[in-house]
Amino acid sequence: MKTFDVYPLYQVEPVMGIGCKLWDTNGTEYLDLYGGHAVISIGHSHPRYIKAIEKQLKSIGFYSNSVLNSQQDKLAELLGNASGYPDYSLFMCNSGAEANENALKLASFHNKKAKVLAFNGSFHGRTSGAVACTDNPSIIAPFNANHSIEFIPWNDINSIKSSILKGNISAVIIEGIQGVGGINVPDKAFMQELAEICKANDVILILDEVQSGYGRTGKFFAHQHFGIQPDIITIAKGMGNGFPVGGLLISPMFKPKHGLLGTTFGGNHLACAASIAVLETIVNENLVENANRMGQYLVQKVKELKGVKEIRGLGLMIGIEFDFPISNLRKKLLFDEKIFTGYSGTNTLRLLPPLCIKEREIDQFIYSMNQVLKME
Ligand code: PLP
Repeated sequence: MKTFDVYPLYQVEPVMGIGCKLWDTNGTEYLDLYGGHAVISIGHSHPRYIKAIEKQLKSIGFYSNSVLNSQQDKLAELLGNASGYPDYSLFMCNSGAEANENALKLASFHNKKAKVLAFNGSFHGRTSGAVACTDNPSIIAPFNANHSIEFIPWNDINSIKSSILKGNISAVIIEGIQGVGGINVPDKAFMQELAEICKANDVILILDEVQSGYGRTGKFFAHQHFGIQPDIITIAKGMGNGFPVGGLLISPMFKPKHGLLGTTFGGNHLACAASIAVLETIVNENLVENANRMGQYLVQKVKELKGVKEIRGLGLMIGIEFDFPISNLRKKLLFDEKIFTGYSGTNTLRLLPPLCIKEREIDQFIYSMNQVLKME
């Protein structure tokens, strides 16, 4: 059997990682400024993380959600405190798409309405209930028959108002910062008005923090830059530092009921051990603060590069738009300079490094960018 060929692959196989560094099968060292789409939050192979998973694996790796698992309670408490949402509840699942699907379901159960508003350029996953609308038609997910989804122009409060006034809107789902769609930061005034309109009209506000959450933007959640409090927050990626785990932070206005939500693997012991180790490391090593400081340092250095049209983002979620397509630049960064980066649209380089990145690693990136841009 062969693998189903859906990913364009670079011919590099990382086999070892430490912090922001990776090594391939030939022992060549790379700088990782992408972390597998914002997944690597505390850095590769963090000793606390490895120890926690190993210890857990030696006792029990998995048992079902029908018995006590005090690890879930411990994680919920830690997460409530670290994120500033101690009165919310945690429901654990396995991925970002699944978190969003459960959020849409929960909203609809709560207000008995069916329609969802999302935004042009958004990406919330690839399952039948999750929604995506980017300019890349290959990643527009099919919609769940029970949910009809309307896409609203980014930052357009008037369209939101008129759609909500038509009625039957169960939820608005929005990313803290749009990731796949181009690293687009929403306007603060727009977010505040959106939160107010949702509240006034019994519409659930779902903040998809799958990519932008867990300290990435220099606050625990990106929406905390905008002074709003959503009803449901969805998380995944950085939560497990590579261990597949996702979750929902659910406002106390939702009342749980047995059987309302469910999952086989979600919240298993290993996922909890990984997630607890990640959170403890984020807190102990002040990684949210580091993301803020290093993000500012990076942006200030990037401003001096040739050909930069616009820099978007917050903390360590950064889009650098050039006035030319960047696929060649990314190849040169990877194969000549040994640096992993991502993209978000044809002209935008997307950087999502581990939150533990240091100044000298940013300096290395800037040096390499100057080398590569000389030849563009
Ligand atoms: N939401 C956002 C904002 C994402 O960026 C992604 C993945 O890139 C998802 C949801 C889907 O997450 P997953 O791939 O874990 O299902």
